[in-house]
Amino acid sequence: MKSDKKRIVVNLSKKMADLLPKHIARLLKMIGRKANEIGSSAFVVGGLVRDLLMGFKNIDLDIVVEGDAIELGSALVGDLGAALVAHKRFGTCTILTKEKLKIDLATARKESYERPAALPTVEFSSLKNDLSRRDFTINAMAVSINRETFGQLIDFFKGVSDLRHGRIRVMHDKSFIDDPTRIFRAVRFEQRFGFAIDGHTQELIQNAVGPERMFEHVGPQRIRDEVILILKEKEPIRALKRMEELHEFRFIHPKIKFGRDTERSFRAVGEACEWYEGANFKKRAIDKWLIYMMALFKDLSYNDLSAICDEFAFRRRDVLRMLSYKVRGEKSIKALSETRKIPPSRIYSLLNPLSFEATLLVMAMSSLLERRNGSLANSRIKDFFQKYNGVTIKLKGDDIKRLGLKPCPRYKEILRKVMVAKLDGAVRTKTDELKYAKSLIDEICG
Ligand code: ATP
Repeated sequence: MKSDKKRIVVNLSKKMADLLPKHIARLLKMIGRKANEIGSSAFVVGGLVRDLLMGFKNIDLDIVVEGDAIELGSALVGDLGAALVAHKRFGTCTILTKEKLKIDLATARKESYERPAALPTVEFSSLKNDLSRRDFTINAMAVSINRETFGQLIDFFKGVSDLRHGRIRVMHDKSFIDDPTRIFRAVRFEQRFGFAIDGHTQELIQNAVGPERMFEHVGPQRIRDEVILILKEKEPIRALKRMEELHEFRFIHPKIKFGRDTERSFRAVGEACEWYEGANFKKRAIDKWLIYMMALFKDLSYNDLSAICDEFAFRRRDVLRMLSYKVRGEKSIKALSETRKIPPSRIYSLLNPLSFEATLLVMAMSSLLERRNGSLANSRIKDFFQKYNGVTIKLKGDDIKRLGLKPCPRYKEILRKVMVAKLDGAVRTKTDELKYAKSLIDEICG
């Protein structure tokens, strides 16, 4: 234990006061006091510590307890008026405060892997053992939050030095064999912070993806989640280029490449999303990562994409959004970039069946066309978002009934035609709609 003490290099309480929101700093003090009361030691660990040292804001509260995390969690919920979900077997619990803040508490543990890439077996242990099972040295530091030691940084594995040198380094040589998803994490942190994966760590990656073929042992859903996390990064292009360099995308499909062409598509997606986010119309939040994912898969056939969706168990709603681009995307790009005039109702019928994500990919891909066609398609898509999407008619089935047509499948057709007329400006008010519907009924009844 003596040598452990030497690892306390800095006190971060000032940084914590400067960088953490007041309520988070207060909360940490309160957790620390409770830990004192029940005779245990509590530490903040992981990303928050790394980001504190780098001067970034992070409010992910990951607490490790030398003692019993569930006991500490239970002692806290009363004072906080919060809810607690405990997992006895793992010695972990999550507190959800009234302000919807999530605090994860875990009893310090040691992990062992029975098979490569399998989920680990857990045993309760010390803070040092808990930190040594983590992915990289920069994520394996802790800050004490007990009263008398509040703010003391604990760095057993030279995490501070690696942060200073901008180095992503694993804790031990079997790290990627135990958990190959750490390869994605290495690339993600390297590119997010502009760091470099340390030489030896890079050799270990090459060994894991090459001779050891570790990606064949990981559940596809874990790979899917890691790729999604990369696509959610602020600048995913650099990370994807790096992945292509380190191990390509064969683990998803042999036909996927992140070459110049895909990079151009990614940049265009970024611009389309920027326009969408900055434009002034009523809109919903979009899943930008999904648009990037569609761009990554854009050269695959419908069947290949469908097989990938099955294998990686994408959620049904994401599958539908991805496949909708496959079915209608290219046709829409072609039609929307035609130089002849096309009415609003046609633009609407091309884009309305697509998700907003697929529509933004159509926008991105058409911006890469020859200039005139590209800008025509672009302004039509902008019109769709700003003017046509959300257009409704007032005419209802009951109105058609009152106009004398008995309920029949023709209702749908009449409503559609009135909608087309509304989009194209031929009808404006409900009276116009009724008049037009009447003329359609007259035609039908001959
Ligand atoms: P981010 O800023 O992307 O959220 P983070 O470091 O907080 O980064 P999390 O995925 O929230 O990432 O993980 C929290 C901590 O848990 C990490 O800092 C690391 O210590 C540990 N960890 C997460 N994933 C792994 C893994 N696959 N193997 C080992 N340790 C991991």
